[in-house]
Amino acid sequence: MDQKLAAALKRDDDAEDAGMHPDERSTCWTHQCWAEDCADDPMHTHPSAY
Ligand SMILES: [Zn+2]
Repeated sequence: MDQKLAAALKRDDDAEDAGMHPDERSTCWTHQCWAEDCADDPMHTHPSAY
């Protein structure tokens, strides 16, 4: 994981703790990657399947 991603994950975690909606995240906590990099993952496209 690069440092920029690690910093963004931390920033999103803190923002979410402060009340930000999870949809506003630019990173994915589940996959520990950029949100756009796993947007096609079945877990995101069909959340009810899990
Ligand atoms: Zn993801």
